[in-house]
Amino acid sequence: MTRAQWLRRAAPSLRVMIRAHHPLERRLSIRVGIKGTGPDKRHVLGATECPNGHATIELSPTIRSARLALLVLLHEMVHAAVPRFMPGEHDALFRKVARKVGFVSPFRQIHAGPRLDAELRALAKRLGPYPRGH
Ligand SMILES: [Zn+2]
Repeated sequence: MTRAQWLRRAAPSLRVMIRAHHPLERRLSIRVGIKGTGPDKRHVLGATECPNGHATIELSPTIRSARLALLVLLHEMVHAAVPRFMPGEHDALFRKVARKVGFVSPFRQIHAGPRLDAELRALAKRLGPYPRGH
C-alpha cells in the first residue's frame, strides 16, 4: 500500500469526525508531496486548495508516523470543510470547527486534545503502520 492509499482509507473516518460538527461535502483528492513554493516549504506538513469546490490535500513526504499523518490530514480536512476557505488561514470559523473536532490552540501547530488523540490512536491501530514508500 502507498501512503496516499493509506491516507485515502483514513479519510472516510476523519470525514465522519468532522461532519459530527460541521458539513463536509466536498470531494477530496489526497496526495503525498507539497507543490507549494513558499519559503518555509520544508516545514509545511500539509496544504489544501479548494478550486471549484473540489479540495486537493497535500501531505508532506517528511511525515513518518501514522499519528502525525492523521493529525495533519484531519487539520487539512477542516480547511476543506470551512466554506470561507482561504489557503493557510485559521480564521474564527476554522478555529471553532477545529476546536469541536478536538484540536487545541495554537491551531497552526496542529495539537490534539486528549479525546482526539485517543480517537486518532484507535484509528491508526485499525489502519496499520503508515507505509514507508510513497
Ligand atoms: Zn491550517
